[in-house]
Amino acid sequence: METENNQEIKSNKQYHPQMHSAEHILNQTMVRMFNCGRSFSNHIEKKKSKCDYHFSRNLTSEEIKEIELNVNQVIKQNLTVSEEFYSKEDAKMTFNLSKLPDDAGDKIRIIRIGDYDACPCSGLHVSSTNEIGTFKIISTDHNEGVLRVRFKLL
Ligand SMILES: [Zn+2]
Repeated sequence: METENNQEIKSNKQYHPQMHSAEHILNQTMVRMFNCGRSFSNHIEKKKSKCDYHFSRNLTSEEIKEIELNVNQVIKQNLTVSEEFYSKEDAKMTFNLSKLPDDAGDKIRIIRIGDYDACPCSGLHVSSTNEIGTFKIISTDHNEGVLRVRFKLL
């Protein structure tokens, strides 16, 4: 499983802010459409990326189209991506901090994408969503309770 701490990002030469920012929007879109959690595991690369979700079934082609439409609508709104810092105590009230390393420190960095998404993250992001390009799902599959979504940017 990949985590989003700085050490891992620096060691991953494939790391890509556009792809990673698209991942934030995809996660929020999945939460809103299906009430599932954000991806628990992912692999982000320049050419194509994948996100895994705890999910009971595969997606229909209609759902895939709807996800693409929703993600691209968010991208096209040209939302500002900003960072805020919270104390760990305050951040705990609003955000799921379970993915943060224990030594994350007392200041928690929250990445906000307009009013669409906010989540703790130490990664690299675009400054505004129109830098991401067009989001396209390559394929999905479902295995033993895990939905894998593969996507690219055009
Ligand atoms: Zn991030």
